[in-house]
Amino acid sequence: MPLEVFTIPCLRDNYAYLLHDAATGAVGVVDVPEAQPILEALAARGWTASTILITHHHDDHIAGVEEIRRQHGARVVGALADQHRLPALDEEVREGDTVTVGSETGQVIEVPGHTVGHIAFHFPDSRALFTADSLMALGCGRLFEGTGPQMWDSLSRLSALPPETLVYSGHEYTASNARFARAIDPENAALIYRCEQVEAARAEGRPTVPSLLSEEISTNPFLRAGTPEIRRVLDMPDATDAEVFTEIRRRKDAF
Ligand code: ZN
Ligand code: FE
Repeated sequence: MPLEVFTIPCLRDNYAYLLHDAATGAVGVVDVPEAQPILEALAARGWTASTILITHHHDDHIAGVEEIRRQHGARVVGALADQHRLPALDEEVREGDTVTVGSETGQVIEVPGHTVGHIAFHFPDSRALFTADSLMALGCGRLFEGTGPQMWDSLSRLSALPPETLVYSGHEYTASNARFARAIDPENAALIYRCEQVEAARAEGRPTVPSLLSEEISTNPFLRAGTPEIRRVLDMPDATDAEVFTEIRRRKDAF
């Protein structure tokens, strides 16, 4: 039975996720931007958090970890590479390692770019991919620590996962990402349609996550660095995909 995933809005525009394994009652939490909304969501369902999965060390993803650990006795899992700047880890993981939530197994994928130690969690049986600030709906995280080619490589590996995968990113940035995407990829019909969906969702206060990986591949400009359309707009016919990606990221930062 796949994990049930619940989206928990936190802070101003962050998302945390509850992963419920109905078979065992185990509950995973992906990122803890703040404790309160997560404690309330757990209490409302009568659940105990068994595992906290941390994607990266930024405060808006870990600030509530200790509180959930204290109140629920949850095990904390995070990247070995970042253990010096994460809350104390009960389990350190790296590329290729697995994590478990009850009877479900997830793969750890290292996705450097936003930070060098950023990891994503892929639960193939649940079609769920937790990307935080690597791949985002219609966007990707800013390059605070990694390089353009590094992030391009990270995104390329994520986009090679099954197209029916659901992408759970860490923020509700989709409406502003959509404005940039429209500017750089103006003739993409799938993108125009998606932007309308995004506007409608936000007008009703609905989250725009998760999104389908197939939808990201056809509409997210950062995944389209290899396409002739984007290269034409940027006038970069002979550049490498990583160079085109880096230029798109630079333009987004200035947008
Ligand atoms: Zn971050
Ligand atoms: Fe963040």
